[in-house]
Amino acid sequence: LEDVVPQAPEDPLFGLMAAYRKDTYEGKVDLGIGAYRDNNAKPWVLPVVKMADEILRSDPNLNHEYLPIAGLQDFTQPSQRLILGPDSPAIKDKRTVSLQTISGTGAVHLGALFLSKFYKANTDRAVYFSSPTWANHNQIFSNVSLPIKTYPYFSAKTKGLDFDGMMSTISSAPEGSIILLHACAHNPTGVDPTQEQWKKIAVVMRERSHFPFFDCAYQGFASGDLAKDAWAVRYFVEQGFELCIAQSYAKNFGLYGERAGCFHFVTGAAPDAEKTIGRIASQLTILQRSEISNPPAYGARIAALVLNDDKLFAEWEANLRTMSGRIIDMRKALRSKLEELGTPGTWNHITDQIGMFSFTGLNEKQVLTLREESHVYMTKNGRISMAGLNTQNIDYFAKAVDKVVRE
Ligand code: PMP
Repeated sequence: LEDVVPQAPEDPLFGLMAAYRKDTYEGKVDLGIGAYRDNNAKPWVLPVVKMADEILRSDPNLNHEYLPIAGLQDFTQPSQRLILGPDSPAIKDKRTVSLQTISGTGAVHLGALFLSKFYKANTDRAVYFSSPTWANHNQIFSNVSLPIKTYPYFSAKTKGLDFDGMMSTISSAPEGSIILLHACAHNPTGVDPTQEQWKKIAVVMRERSHFPFFDCAYQGFASGDLAKDAWAVRYFVEQGFELCIAQSYAKNFGLYGERAGCFHFVTGAAPDAEKTIGRIASQLTILQRSEISNPPAYGARIAALVLNDDKLFAEWEANLRTMSGRIIDMRKALRSKLEELGTPGTWNHITDQIGMFSFTGLNEKQVLTLREESHVYMTKNGRISMAGLNTQNIDYFAKAVDKVVRE
């Protein structure tokens, strides 16, 4: 194959991480990868995960056997309730199927693969992404040969949602298009529709018979409240949509490397929905078998212990509030420091945006200057992971931004 395999570009985000690790400057700042850091810029093992880990390790019957193809039921069932709500009509009517996946990425992939094989609503069958979106969406859907299109999402002017642009593209997309939606805490912009806007999106999506594909990687990170962050998904289910959901536990449990996630498919409330979901489940099972055979156990076991125990669940909610609270504090601090410095431009978007990321509005040249001159690492699109800021580096970062904006 020496003549036919071209060199692929390095993954920009993982390349950025490597460049950061190589940098020997002591005061370097990592705002690249979307992983939570504590106030000392260190990875944080959630106290509830430590508790669950101790319970797991003290179980004399613990073994390393394969999980079933669809994963650990003690994990997939409460995961369904977590995203759809404990009283979800879809759960009651048994028109939901859930498979444990290789975290959120695996869930997006399984959904994409399934749709590429079975979704024939229109001849285009394109999937529409927000512009911008998580870069991996493009790769995952291209791998299964689904055509990709985009809808406007971020307004460079307001640094908020381009709601009119989004609505206009979704309403003119061919009937039966797949629309990929971020359930909450949009990556990379940190900009979510309001509940009123979600309702309007649902109206056009129903008019056009579009298929919603929700990607939920940050439940609990947007507001610190798990139910509130699942509002849009639950609303679409209540409205009777057939839809699917990719659910990740990487961020909200800090289980990044353990690859704990779920794929859920929900059919509409037709009389034979239970039979339909049975057939869908059978096909998903075959796809999963050929792709990964069965999912990894450790992360799912940790999450299952927490999701099925009221006390541990309450501890998890407290841990989530610790993470989202610290991020909100950093947003407030960054905005006020930039405003104190009189940095040209407006900075209200830093506190208006939510979740783990902020789309600062810095351009590629400014981002590269920050990297070269100040050892501050962020993606070229001007996104920063708020969790990389802390009380020790925030002054340094604000001053570096101030300088680069004035140049
Ligand atoms: N979707 C979005 C929008 C994300 O930001 C992420 C995490 N970067 C994922 C899915 C999946 O991540 P993981 O595979 O680590 O769960």
